[in-house]
Amino acid sequence: MQKAKLALKAHADHQTVVNLSSTVTVGGSDLLIVGGPCSVESQAQMEAVASRLRVAPIQAIRGGVYKPRTSPYDFQGMGLDGLEILAGVRDRYGLPVITEVMAISQIEAIATHADVLQVGSRNMQNFDLLKAVGQVDKPVLLKRGLAATLEEFVMAAEYILSHGNPNVILCERGIRSFDPFTRNVLDLGAVVALKQITHLPVVVDPSHAAGKRELVANLAKAAIASGADGVMVECHPEPEESVSDARQTLSLEAMAELVQELGRIANAVDRTIPQTGVMPQLSWV
Ligand code: PEP
Ligand code: MN
Repeated sequence: MQKAKLALKAHADHQTVVNLSSTVTVGGSDLLIVGGPCSVESQAQMEAVASRLRVAPIQAIRGGVYKPRTSPYDFQGMGLDGLEILAGVRDRYGLPVITEVMAISQIEAIATHADVLQVGSRNMQNFDLLKAVGQVDKPVLLKRGLAATLEEFVMAAEYILSHGNPNVILCERGIRSFDPFTRNVLDLGAVVALKQITHLPVVVDPSHAAGKRELVANLAKAAIASGADGVMVECHPEPEESVSDARQTLSLEAMAELVQELGRIANAVDRTIPQTGVMPQLSWV
């Protein structure tokens, strides 16, 4: 980690706390539980996620509208229409939203409609994109590349920090291995190491790591036990019908149950899962 400067811990207590909204933070004693579908599909879908999980409680909602798909023939995301749905749900429920930015040309619209810009695994070393999100006044959730070393991951964060954006959240989401049984291998050793090496919040995405919904809850619990500052989990009102990543997606009921179980792990590691968000305005619809 020789060349990193801004990402490294200066002393044992050095820890960045990132504000996602006026009430939601990550990196302090509050955990950040993010839930939502792989892809934004409709207003009704996002409304169901927010209304069921606000009280779980989750602290932020996810949903991709620009999707990095392996096949160009697969659903590519709702684009601007999806951003408007996200912004509507955010305003109505008071939950910050996280969505992926794939290109510099998308930054302005995403920064206007969302609270956190996600840089996906496939773009972790898209250096021009990193420099550009480094100039945005919104937090960035940076996912570890499919086969990135920790040094490469930290140096990617260093690009964003050195271009002026101090609000970087690291996300471990599994790395490629030889074994196709799981989609990726969740590297909890990386979580422990990143918490020691850097002052940045570290969250874990067990969904893309496991690729199978039956593995997700226990990996999420292990992540919190290992010192992660939060988890981001894919869930959907009708998981089997998800347009992308259906196999790893939890039902809203399973997600709500997971948040309850995470509460017990949180207690054991002196963390809390705060209730945030607000009751929706009845005048909407
Ligand atoms: C996602 O979170 O929607 C996603 C595409 O994840 P990753 O970049 O980790 O594959
Ligand atoms: Mn996904």
